[in-house]
Amino acid sequence: MASLQDESLEEMRVRLERVRDDPARVAALAGEFLDLAGRMAAKAEKLARIGDRTQARMVELNRRLRQQEEQYRGIFENSTEGIFLADAAGALLAANPALLELLAPGDAGPASGLPREAVAVASLFFDAADYQAFARTLAETGRVQRLEVRVKTPRGPVWCLVGASRIEPDGHVVGMTQDITARKALEEELVHRAASDVLTGLANRRGFFENAARALGAAARSGAPLGLIMLDVDHFKAVNDTFGHEVGDAVLRAVAGRLRDSVRVSDSVGRVGGEEFAVLCPGTDRGGAAELAERLRRAVEALVVETAGRPIRVTASFGVALWDAALDQDAADCLARADRALYAAKRSGRNRVCLDGPAPPPGTDA
Ligand code: GH3
Ligand code: MG
Ligand code: MG
Repeated sequence: MASLQDESLEEMRVRLERVRDDPARVAALAGEFLDLAGRMAAKAEKLARIGDRTQARMVELNRRLRQQEEQYRGIFENSTEGIFLADAAGALLAANPALLELLAPGDAGPASGLPREAVAVASLFFDAADYQAFARTLAETGRVQRLEVRVKTPRGPVWCLVGASRIEPDGHVVGMTQDITARKALEEELVHRAASDVLTGLANRRGFFENAARALGAAARSGAPLGLIMLDVDHFKAVNDTFGHEVGDAVLRAVAGRLRDSVRVSDSVGRVGGEEFAVLCPGTDRGGAAELAERLRRAVEALVVETAGRPIRVTASFGVALWDAALDQDAADCLARADRALYAAKRSGRNRVCLDGPAPPPGTDA
């Protein structure tokens, strides 16, 4: 048996015979490979078995692939959330029925699965800055999770929660969108409720201070003056005592309505206490704020609240202060100065306007 070391060759059985031209001398070796046909047949059989197994595996893989594709198609078609596929350049390749219904109700291009117009993912974002944040996060981390954005739709911008991931090697992007309009509306409603007064519909104390903080920031940036007016209904306890709390409530609502109707849109009115209101007037100086306060004083005085028993009239006292960065740390400081002026108005007879000014000498009343 000869063993051939070369790896490309097979180990074979060989029979060799010495060929002699005379008995003392071997002239050549003659021989034959044994069992060649048998070996070739075994090899062919082995190859055939491998081929069969490979083919069976291919068939099985194909079946599983088709099944997976069916499953993903089912998810894509039936998901109540929007699903999209985009290429690396941000062009929309596919959008599922739920997303199409959001983007272009009744206008789905059935062939491509795309609405006729929207072609770039960027064009679906209502705010360009939102798309930039989306694209940046995707580029940096390969995925975007729970980003709240407004999506452009024929019925106006719609709040959506967006998630996406990049799929390598071609950089395609698969993304999901969930319509969160209802949740956003509820959140806004809660924020609004937390900042508004149930009785009058005006901003409550908290809402008023939030508005004031915003107005102070704007005034600090622009250098424009900011007037602040505080008012308190005169002898309101007597209204309650005489006519009852419900009538008192109706009077407060009427006063609130009168104040709201008498100021500019840029002004904001709040109910900062039981029968105390405040008005912020951006862009209004001390003189302008005093004039507005006087106008409001007359408007309240002229108000007649009709009740079942008889018409009720009230008056109110007003204090005016101008935001002053040298005196006030925040809106509460300025409101406290307006409040001091208001109590000067109370002490000097009510139903009048007093301006905050230099502190009175000790011992005096106002
Ligand atoms: P002054 O001129 O000094 O301001 O007298 P006043 O009676 O208005 O002041 P006081 O602070 O003694 O009374 C305020 C009253 O406002 C007492 C309180 O019961 C009433 N009040 C506060 N909030 C409400 C409310 O929401 N509804 C009603 N009906 N009354 C309220
Ligand atoms: Mg009061
Ligand atoms: Mg009062």
